[in-house]
Amino acid sequence: MTTTREIHLASRPHGTPVPENFRTVETTLPALESDQVLVRNTVLSVDPYMRGRMNDVKSYVPPFQVDAPLDGGCVGVVEESTSESVAVGTHVMHGLGWREHAVLPASAVRPIDTSVAPASAYLGALGMPGMTAYAGLTAVAGLKEGETVFISGAAGAVGSIAGQIARKLGAGKVIGSAGSAEKVSWLTDELGFDAAFDYKAGPVAKQLAEHAPIDVYFDNVGGEHLEAAIFHMADFGRLALCGAISAYNATEVPPGPRNLMMAISKRLTLRGFIVSDHSDITSEFYKTVGPWIASGEIVTRETFVDGLDQTVEAFLGLGTGANLGKMLVRL
Ligand code: NDP
Repeated sequence: MTTTREIHLASRPHGTPVPENFRTVETTLPALESDQVLVRNTVLSVDPYMRGRMNDVKSYVPPFQVDAPLDGGCVGVVEESTSESVAVGTHVMHGLGWREHAVLPASAVRPIDTSVAPASAYLGALGMPGMTAYAGLTAVAGLKEGETVFISGAAGAVGSIAGQIARKLGAGKVIGSAGSAEKVSWLTDELGFDAAFDYKAGPVAKQLAEHAPIDVYFDNVGGEHLEAAIFHMADFGRLALCGAISAYNATEVPPGPRNLMMAISKRLTLRGFIVSDHSDITSEFYKTVGPWIASGEIVTRETFVDGLDQTVEAFLGLGTGANLGKMLVRL
């Protein structure tokens, strides 16, 4: 097998990405050099942060290049190896997603234990999104027992785990918002959120009012949600600014929360964070959250689409709420 397929960025999106911004390319796999592995990717992750990398701007990760393959988290099986440390047949995680096969140094793959959880879990609850949820609630927001937590984007990869971790860590009340009645029911009926609302059904500030005051806001969305949360925060409340997906496709600088001045009178802490800043608590995350996931006390959900050809659609689906839990592409 010498040919494989990968997805390239054909052009930079202006506003909401469209399929024409991407191109599937057939390419030839190079022969392995020493200490390299050939991985057959089995599950690819698509994540909201990838939208930012499609713009040619400086950020905490470099931009994708036009006419070059995109990349991102994925898991797969080693099919060839010239490394003594990684054997053929090993399940691994690495960063060369958006393609069917990857050739990379053995040091760039991380073996994963598929007897603990399916490989896909390492891209979701047991991976970067789960760790983001844990770090945001603990290291960033300093959640304390008995507090009221509000989580936006609550039916997604990070939000669905954050709500359940908050409950396990002793939150008094866990409130979520999501984009459909079906998602809202899932949050309250299956994930144990105390209450949830559909942010498309009415103004966020109005729907959040009955759950106020909020001690900790885990913000995945920004925009109207952030403004509403500031309005309903308790004195000395903490806001973990994780993401602002409502603005990722904006073509003009979106307005900031108009009520930011309330942060003074309420003595709020608004703190942005990037999950990779918190690698010091990675083992604490595995030790604390791993058993909850393994035992099923924390419910994990994945939305799969099948085939490399569906990767773009899966990515675009993040912007329209097509996923419940983690959005993944199964090859
Ligand atoms: P999700 O699984 O939550 O998928 C994205 C979801 O966002 C969609 O399902 C959709 O759900 C919702 N959404 C899309 N557009 C809007 C909108 N305009 N307003 C409100 N909700 C919208 O993604 P992740 O869990 O992977 O990521 C969640 C957030 O966390 C993102 O903002 C992401 O960038 C951020 N993040 C930050 C990290 C960090 O280190 N700081 C690390 C990982 C993620 P719905 O149907 O509810 O609208």
